Amino acid sequence: MNYIKVKGTHDFTGVDAEELNALQSLFIKSCHKYKYNLHYVPVMEYSELYSRSVGEGSDIVRKEMYTFLDKGDRSITLRPEFTAGIIRSIVENKMYATEVLPIKSCYFGTCYRYERPQAGRYREFYQGGVECVGTRGVSSDTEIISLLLDFFKEIGIKDKVFIKLNYLGGEETRKNYSAALREYFSGHIDSMCADCKERLEINPLRILDCKVSEDQKVVEGAPKISEYLSEEDKNNLNEIISYLNGKGIKYEYDSGLVRGLDYYSGLVFEMYPVNNPKAEGALAGGGHYYGLVSEIGGGDLEGVGFSFGAERLLTYIHELGLTLPSCSAKRIYVMPLSKECLSYSEEVASTLRDNGYTVEVDYSFSKIGAMFKKAERLAMDLGVIIGTDEVNTNTVHLKDLKEKEEKTVSKTDIVKEIEK
Ligand code: AMP
Repeated sequence: MNYIKVKGTHDFTGVDAEELNALQSLFIKSCHKYKYNLHYVPVMEYSELYSRSVGEGSDIVRKEMYTFLDKGDRSITLRPEFTAGIIRSIVENKMYATEVLPIKSCYFGTCYRYERPQAGRYREFYQGGVECVGTRGVSSDTEIISLLLDFFKEIGIKDKVFIKLNYLGGEETRKNYSAALREYFSGHIDSMCADCKERLEINPLRILDCKVSEDQKVVEGAPKISEYLSEEDKNNLNEIISYLNGKGIKYEYDSGLVRGLDYYSGLVFEMYPVNNPKAEGALAGGGHYYGLVSEIGGGDLEGVGFSFGAERLLTYIHELGLTLPSCSAKRIYVMPLSKECLSYSEEVASTLRDNGYTVEVDYSFSKIGAMFKKAERLAMDLGVIIGTDEVNTNTVHLKDLKEKEEKTVSKTDIVKEIEK
C-alpha cells in the first residue's frame, strides 16, 4: 500500500521548511518588539468553545470544523483558529486577574478547517497572530496594525499590501443594524441561496459575506453599517483612519466587510495584495471584540487581534520574486582531503559551530570536485578545504561558493575572515 498525505494537507521539506521557520522567527521577533509574549495553546479544545465564540452562524462552525468524539464521548474539535483557544487559556488561568493588562499574546501554529482544497485554501494550514486582551479604545487596534506592517516590512511586502477596513460598532449599533438587515433581507430571502436563508435566522450580518453571484445584487442594496454608527463609534473610526493617514498606510473603507467569525465588534480589517485587491482569500485579517471574553467566562474585557496565513504569505512572497531574509546562520562545508586531515578539520568545524555557524563535515575523502558538487546541492555558502599543506602551515583554504572567490587564511583568523 502506498501512503499519501490527507487531502488538503502538505509537507514542508528543504527550502520550504526553512522558509516557514524563517517566517515564524521573523514574526515572533516583530511581536517581541511590541512586548507580545508567546502563548502556546492545545490543538484540541472542547467543541463548545468554538460554537459559542466563533459563532453558530459562521461557516467555520456550520460546516468546516474537524470534530470527533473521543473515547470518553466528549466532543473535541481541532482548532479552526486561535483566538478562542487563547481567550480560553487567559480566562482559565485567570491571567486577567494576575497579570498587567492588557495581556499581549502571540502565537504561530497549525489550524484545521474542512474546506474545499484549492490554491491558498487548505485543510491544515499555519496561522500566526496576536491577541491583546483587556484593552480600551482603539490604541491597541492601531498598535496591532503597526505590528503587522512592521512584520510585513521585515519580509519585504509592506508596500505591496493594502488594508480593507470596516467598523461594526458597539453592542447597541450591532443590534440595531442586525434588525435593519433582518427586515431588509426578509423581503428578498426567497430568491437567495440556502446558506443565506440559514444565516438570516442565526446572524443576518453573515449574509454580507455571501459569495454566490446571484445574491450579490441583493447584498449590495442592503443597509450600510455606516448609517447606524453611534457618535462614539464614529469617533473611534475617525481616530483609526487619521492614524492610518498619518502613517501613509493605504486603506479602503468597505462597509460590507464583516469577516467570517461572529465575535467581532468595532474595527474589522483584512489585508490584500495591492495587485489583487479582490483576491478570494485575504493575507491576514483581524478585529476588535467586546463580548468574546465574557462569553468564555472572563468578565467584561475587550480585546483585539489579527491572524495571517503563512502559506498565503509565502506564496505572495514568491509571486513577487522576493526571498525571505534568512534566519539561519551561514552554512559552511568543511572538506578534509584525506583521513590524516580529519582531526584538524573537526577542530576547525568545532570553532565555527561555537561561533554560531551551521557546519557540515564531508567524511567521504573523495575527489575535491565531487565534494564541491555535494556542497552545491546542499546550498552551502562557504567551503573550507583542508589538505596536508593547510595542516602543516596551520591554515585553511576558504572558498565562497556563491561568489567563487577563494583564499588561504590562518586557522586562528578563520572567523574574522568569514565575518568580513
Ligand atoms: P480567519 O481566521 O478566517 O480570519 O483567517 C485568517 C487568515 O488565515 C486568512 O487571512 C488566511 O491568510 C489564513 N487562512 C484562513 N483559512 C485558510 C485556509 N483554509 N488555508 C490557508 N490559509 C487560510
